[in-house]
Amino acid sequence: MSKSYPVTEHTYDAVVVGAGGSGLRATMGLAEAGLKTACITKVFPTRSHTVAAQGGIAASLGNMGKDTWQWHMFDTVKGSDWLGDQDAIEYMVREAPAAVYELEHYGVPFSRTEEGKIYQRAFGGMTTEFGEGPAAQRTCAAADRTGHAMLHALYQQSLKYESDFYIEYFAIDLIMEDGECRGVIAMNMEDGSIHAFRSQATVLATGGYGRAYFSATSAHTCTGDGGGMVLRAGLSLQDLEFVQFHPTGIYGAGVLITEGARGEGGYLLNSEGERFMERYAPSAKDLASRDVVSRSISNEIREGRGVGPNKDHMYLHLDHLDPAVLAERLPGISESAKIFAGVDVTKQPIPIIPTVHYNMGGIPTNYHGEVINPTPDNQDNTVPGLFAVGEAACVSVHGANRLGSNSLIDLVVFGRAIGKRVPELVKAGATQKPLPSGYADMALGRLDAARYADGAISTADLRLEMQRTMQGKCAVFRTDELLDEGVKEIDAVAAKLGDVKTSDRGLVWNSDLIETLELDNLMGQAVLTMHAASNRKESRGAHMHEDYPDRDDKNWMKHTVQWFDGKNVKIGYREVHNYTLTEEVEYIKPKARVY
Ligand SMILES: Cc1cc2nc3c(=O)[nH]c(=O)nc-3n(C[C@H](O)[C@H](O)[C@H](O)COP(=O)(O)OP(=O)(O)OC[C@H]3O[C@@H](n4cnc5c(N)ncnc54)[C@H](O)[C@@H]3O)c2cc1C
Repeated sequence: MSKSYPVTEHTYDAVVVGAGGSGLRATMGLAEAGLKTACITKVFPTRSHTVAAQGGIAASLGNMGKDTWQWHMFDTVKGSDWLGDQDAIEYMVREAPAAVYELEHYGVPFSRTEEGKIYQRAFGGMTTEFGEGPAAQRTCAAADRTGHAMLHALYQQSLKYESDFYIEYFAIDLIMEDGECRGVIAMNMEDGSIHAFRSQATVLATGGYGRAYFSATSAHTCTGDGGGMVLRAGLSLQDLEFVQFHPTGIYGAGVLITEGARGEGGYLLNSEGERFMERYAPSAKDLASRDVVSRSISNEIREGRGVGPNKDHMYLHLDHLDPAVLAERLPGISESAKIFAGVDVTKQPIPIIPTVHYNMGGIPTNYHGEVINPTPDNQDNTVPGLFAVGEAACVSVHGANRLGSNSLIDLVVFGRAIGKRVPELVKAGATQKPLPSGYADMALGRLDAARYADGAISTADLRLEMQRTMQGKCAVFRTDELLDEGVKEIDAVAAKLGDVKTSDRGLVWNSDLIETLELDNLMGQAVLTMHAASNRKESRGAHMHEDYPDRDDKNWMKHTVQWFDGKNVKIGYREVHNYTLTEEVEYIKPKARVY
């Protein structure tokens, strides 16, 4: 059955896996520093999920009114519900303006003020005067296509420096030796050839794992491959229980329907034709905050008032609005509803469901981007040769809840930080010892097993089971009962991985094979997300636990860290960094998070 797979070896100073905003910014910086750099990506760089970001990127430029990095820091700490590391947050908000000006110089076509400065809009949770003043206009935007503009500018810039792109290569596993990362194994999806990238520094910039859930606004490629590789290397992931939901993703497709749809007068109805938001939020109604609306929808579904044959979603009505208003103010939404739900918004409601939008958790790093694997005597122990950045990483600047527009800035600030840090640790062109014997065994063993898998359940069916379990038991609305069931169910679903069936035995564009490897990556993070959520007996940020409705700083102001060997989950903790980077700002003490 199993064949041998010839391996082509490459040697680089630095290898970046991922070409989204974070991976491209890291690639650029490393190449600019004179390191021989490769960037490996499973999709063409400008198709990475960053391209879908609309709203904008946060930085206290103060172009539209007074703003300071100290205010941005306060908002981010508060947004994180005090789970963010304040040294890393200080680093991000201080570096943010320089990182945005850099993007401007790289050619990002930002929208402009009358005076020609970068246009900035207001965003949720972004305030002035340490939460006491009016909303801050802090979010820099290129119309509603900021991610698109950024990604194209960054790709063009990275081509300017000498870096090699391996496009449509799928990274399978890390090469580890004595606790150190020595590179990565990847498959060229076009011809099935196997490549080993030997490297002094390996950077994981593989994005989030939104696709562990049934409904996600993220691309189908957001399968947490970096997190999967890290777990198989015996390293830890952090804070996975914190998953951000947006109330209105299109049912099934998950495509985002902006809050602006409700801003223009749209409202939600349940199966009894009731405007249920009036019960949950009598004054703000359908325009209550994202977490409140998401929880209300989930509660209606749980109590049997969902719509559709499975009673598992809700209707968003825009059909009472003037068609001229829809055409003028919500053309994009009208188009998305048509394409992804087959709905004419002037006549029919849009089927929606609270939809996974962002993973706050991920591969733990410090603010240099160095990956952390805590040991009993050093909670900040770094893994030599391994770095992570972007949504794949958990620095942690977002803590228990990310503010809108703080992800794009995280990508470029920490991508840039890696470009500065790696050259301090490695020497360009330094001789690298030969790779350890059997270095490709794990990657090729997994590849071969997936290629010839002949069990009882297809990859697509098992993936759906995983996604439905996560959506049903570990979404916006969490109780001990749901999570206890969820833990049992997800463990049982994960156990079926060994019983998967694939049908394509080839190596050329074998999407059956790639999706099976992706499912393996997703599954580990689904299991850990469920276990972490069931373990955390408090409510904080996105983790809203009905049985423990309050934040419990005494017992739970700590990061969850988890290891997973495919069967057993090990849980530990790291202290939150309750100190700042410099003495120019004081530690922001915890208080209640009310807006
Ligand atoms: C619809 C939507 C709108 C958003 N809007 C905003 C916004 O307005 N503001 C904001 O701040 N944030 C926003 N976000 C969040 C933000 O866009 C993302 O968190 C961010 O873009 C992630 O970037 P990244 O570089 O980490 O990864 P991605 O952009 O997801 O890129 C991942 C890269 O990794 C590569 N990769 C993955 N696995 C492998 C593998 N096994 N082998 C090889 N390559 C691999 C992929 O090819 C890809 O290049 C939004 C998110 C979504 C989904």
